[in-house]
Amino acid sequence: MPWTSETVQSIGRSRALHFEDYLRRGERAREDAQKHQRIASRECRYCYYVSHDLAGQAFTEWQCMSCVETQMHSNTAVPKLCDKCADNLEACVRCGGSREWQTPSEEGKPR
Ligand SMILES: [Zn+2]
Ligand SMILES: [Zn+2]
Repeated sequence: MPWTSETVQSIGRSRALHFEDYLRRGERAREDAQKHQRIASRECRYCYYVSHDLAGQAFTEWQCMSCVETQMHSNTAVPKLCDKCADNLEACVRCGGSREWQTPSEEGKPR
């Protein structure tokens, strides 16, 4: 199939939608729009809003990096820490970093 101007237009439109989704995610991340759900899933803002839904749907066995307990997770984006260790360390289950932080541009501003 030749690469027509319709193909170019159609890919362009799809890119525009992805781009808007990306920007919206960024806004939600900055506002922490779903803080309640984010805290409930024990994730930091980056992991919850930005790096989400890149996971494959398959039950995956994984090991907590802290207590080395083996667990099952419902998709391939396995956490780094189990809920218990994440709570003890006040860490994000997904990246293992602090659950709450401010970006350099947010520092010093009231939230
Ligand atoms: Zn653990
Ligand atoms: Zn994280």
